[in-house]
Amino acid sequence: MKNHFDIIIVGSGILGAFHAYHAAKLGKKILLTEKDQYPAQATVRNFGQVVPSGMGNDWFNYGVRGTEIYNQIQSEFDISIRNNGSVYIASDADERQLIHELKSTMDSRGYQAQLLTTNQCLAKWPALKSDYCKEALFFPQEVSGEPEKLIHQLLKYLTYKFSNLTYAPFTTIIDCFVSGGRVKTINNRQEEFTAEKVIVCNGGEFKLLFADLFRDSGIITSKLQMLRTRPMPEVALEGNILTGLTIRRYESFQECASYSSLKTPEHLLELKKWGIHILFKKATDGSIIIGDSHEYADVAHTDDLGFSQSEYINQLMLNEAKRIVNFDVTLIASSWSGFYSQHNEKDIVEIDIEDKIHIRTAIGGKGMTTSAGYAERSIKSIFAM
Ligand SMILES: Cc1cc2nc3c(=O)[nH]c(=O)nc-3n(C[C@H](O)[C@H](O)[C@H](O)COP(=O)(O)OP(=O)(O)OC[C@H]3O[C@@H](n4cnc5c(N)ncnc54)[C@H](O)[C@@H]3O)c2cc1C
Repeated sequence: MKNHFDIIIVGSGILGAFHAYHAAKLGKKILLTEKDQYPAQATVRNFGQVVPSGMGNDWFNYGVRGTEIYNQIQSEFDISIRNNGSVYIASDADERQLIHELKSTMDSRGYQAQLLTTNQCLAKWPALKSDYCKEALFFPQEVSGEPEKLIHQLLKYLTYKFSNLTYAPFTTIIDCFVSGGRVKTINNRQEEFTAEKVIVCNGGEFKLLFADLFRDSGIITSKLQMLRTRPMPEVALEGNILTGLTIRRYESFQECASYSSLKTPEHLLELKKWGIHILFKKATDGSIIIGDSHEYADVAHTDDLGFSQSEYINQLMLNEAKRIVNFDVTLIASSWSGFYSQHNEKDIVEIDIEDKIHIRTAIGGKGMTTSAGYAERSIKSIFAM
């Protein structure tokens, strides 16, 4: 039947796209839908950092597997993956202690990690300031993608590689329910498509489908502010650059022994209040993405987060960035807000309705790193393999 599929996937962000990839490899007939002209939410508004080293436990493994998958696809088709590694720059004694502890954990896992002295860092990244960079932990095998390119290329790859996959942009699923042992979906053109199973990867969109369920789900929306400098090809800052406040924030460090006794120095208190940690990512055009901050609201109050940017938060970020690097971070060419959904007690929200409709959302701030690996496990569990 023309309008019947093994699987319909709602949402073509990174999580939906990788569910489609793993299901397509199993030979399933797939309809991958996207409400917009192309995905325009968290999946294109991020840094594109693929950093398994920052993830806790299982999610570290999803990140490592995700990196393998990115590299495999990149070897067949250009999805913008580059291998320049990730580095965590420690700026004081507490952060140095944490990077040493994470190095031991990574050694025990057999995951390549190198401690770098200040001089080694300055030789590799001359844009760093010597008085900030006390020591660093480098993961040479980690990769990054170009957020504005990656998903578009991935969707092209999926349609070129798999004749069993149909991609349908401009297709908003406005209803989805189990009927007669199948799932029926209705789209914005009132067309009806059926499937054996539907996977909903709606990201931060909670009004179109299952609105009441999401309102009581405990899901939180996070708003992030991001800045991009004008192209600075002369600035040597390749790879995923993560700094002291990231060491104080990421889950892998929270699992380190000294994390529980970590104190926040006075000068970082205001930054922490706004969920700021400073990351840099040099894009292929030479511009440098700088971020980010975090403000939160539950699903019922997401609109209260607004769409505008707080100049105060941007200034806090830039002032901290000035402590870290020696180029002019105030030469900003653009700025934007990004939003992702997360759950404070769960690493991801998985809701299964009658073993037919499978909601997978709220992957949080780790989706570019872990979606490829997590979706592999998710598809296996949906098909009980
Ligand atoms: C500023 C920022 C920086 C980040 N940096 C990083 C990073 O460096 N590394 C990292 O690992 N992660 C990062 N993240 C997190 C990462 O971007 C997200 O975890 C990830 O993109 C979430 O993907 P998703 O597919 O779940 O959601 P989304 O990207 O929101 O995609 C969901 C898609 O579903 C579509 N959709 C929703 N409802 C419907 C419907 N009813 N019908 C049809 N289509 C629908 C939407 O239009 C959307 O395109 C960052 C996030 C932000 C915001």
